[in-house]
Amino acid sequence: MPLLGCIADDFTGATDLASMLVGRGMRAVQLIGVPTAGEPVPDADAIIIALKSRTAPAGEAVGDSLAALAWLQRAGCRQFFFKYCSTFDSTPAGNIGPVADALVVALGCGFALACPAFPANGRSVFQGHLFVGTALLNESGMEKHPLTPMTDANLVRVLSCQTEGAVGLVPYATVAQGTAAIRRAMTALKEQGRRYAIVDAVSDAHLLDIGAAAAGHALITGGSGVAIGLPENFRQAGLLPVLDDPGRLPVVGGHAAVLAGSCSRATLFQIANARGHVPTLELDALATPDAAALAAQALAWMQDRLGDTPVVIAASAPPEKVAALQARLGREAAGLLIETALAEIAHALVAAGVRRLVVAGGETSGAVVRRLGVRRLRIGAEIDPGVPWTFAEGGEASLKLALKSGNFGAPDFFLKSFAMPEAA
Ligand code: ADP
Repeated sequence: MPLLGCIADDFTGATDLASMLVGRGMRAVQLIGVPTAGEPVPDADAIIIALKSRTAPAGEAVGDSLAALAWLQRAGCRQFFFKYCSTFDSTPAGNIGPVADALVVALGCGFALACPAFPANGRSVFQGHLFVGTALLNESGMEKHPLTPMTDANLVRVLSCQTEGAVGLVPYATVAQGTAAIRRAMTALKEQGRRYAIVDAVSDAHLLDIGAAAAGHALITGGSGVAIGLPENFRQAGLLPVLDDPGRLPVVGGHAAVLAGSCSRATLFQIANARGHVPTLELDALATPDAAALAAQALAWMQDRLGDTPVVIAASAPPEKVAALQARLGREAAGLLIETALAEIAHALVAAGVRRLVVAGGETSGAVVRRLGVRRLRIGAEIDPGVPWTFAEGGEASLKLALKSGNFGAPDFFLKSFAMPEAA
């Protein structure tokens, strides 16, 4: 029976959380989208349902989150986690407040802590204010985010705007006193009628204490950081055995490939880094603005190159080339063209015997996973922070995927992924 049921508001955030839980000793499986009623319950300690609810209309985000919760409850989970971004990405209309409200009501728990802190990635919360590195959230660049501009770093105020419930604060001075003090403060806030407590945290030690203080909570909300304290609660309760290797995945062998659709700086570096070492095809969508033709080029190219070394196929381009294609086709059509081509290429790679596939780009990963019909991922060892190897369960082919959000990973990420031994 699974112990922890998680609802994540985006795909790569779900993987990040799952990877964190594996790192702390839980076996984790990520499900893509709300599972159907008959979907079998994975053999795992934590199940993470990845939604696309961060920027969806609030009603839709609430509906999907409640459906995910109902499924996780039926699966037998004992505690629930609502995962959002460590920069609290949301709009005044939500979706953090409305989704959390709906989950609090559905679980009848009346209260939940809210802590997006992730000190290892520079996100800390002090006196209820969220910092990114040394900058307040609203001076960190997030105030200019195209979809969820964050113009206020005061999370008590931000969350208050999104919920009818009252929002309190467990301040640093209390958090620094440890688990018992945090637990007392949260109980007091609940008794005062607060529905939420923003909880300060500037170190992993704080997150561990907060996790311990939330052992009896039905619902925890936050970034992936605050989840680090939860596995220990289950171990203490005798529910979670100590496992040698909670991220163990089957050996799949086969060919290895990278598909890149992210145009982020990190990904461009990673492609440049791989270029000198392994066969690399850079598709030119400006010269061939046709998905089927691009896919055909890639297919012809890969024929005699798939072998013992990985291959890299990239549509990624620097900003001026991206802008040129967008000017010609429009932003959405340009993105769709490349995503369609890469999804077809992924399908062809798997048909040609590729069993380990790294995909760079969040939207690109979504398109590839849809085309391959993948519905669930068992989470394995981390390659770089937030990006684990995963095993696609229930698919036709035995397949490992590493789905990388554009900005993640060190410059040698691609080669490093395949250098990792397949079995412990
Ligand atoms: P990231 O995680 O870096 O945001 P995504 O895959 O989410 O990466 O988004 C990158 C988008 O850019 C995708 O829609 C992809 O199809 C598109 N894209 C990739 N290469 C090009 C290109 N050469 N020109 C225009 N758009 C591109």
